[in-house]
Amino acid sequence: MEYYKQNKVSSCTANDDGTYEGVVSGSSDESYSVHVDMEHPRKSTCNCPLANCKKVICKHIVAVSLCVDVSEAECFKNEKTLYASEEEERRTKKYYKYMSYAKCMSQRELREAYVELMIELEEIRLKEKYGK
Ligand SMILES: [Zn+2]
Repeated sequence: MEYYKQNKVSSCTANDDGTYEGVVSGSSDESYSVHVDMEHPRKSTCNCPLANCKKVICKHIVAVSLCVDVSEAECFKNEKTLYASEEEERRTKKYYKYMSYAKCMSQRELREAYVELMIELEEIRLKEKYGK
């Protein structure tokens, strides 16, 4: 996930209402403006060809949502659970964060996101294995 942070998301700032603005660079030189609503993922927008004016959660929206500090996310404000470790707490928060997105995606969108992530993962592994 660090990959998104370093190479794709060039900025991610919080608004007062708990939503986020981000800029993500696309596959070529263009970059997209992304608005992320953590509480209502369907209200998130991106001006890339895939998501523009459609209620589609594209990979740019996902990338910005990954950069949002989970502890600040609105959906966890009422969560008062005791965790065995910080690691477990982090993982649980991440689980709910991604799940709230997954719930809003159609089966087709989920398949596409899954494939995208698998490709990204493989690329990262290849880079680690052979260097850049
Ligand atoms: Zn997009």
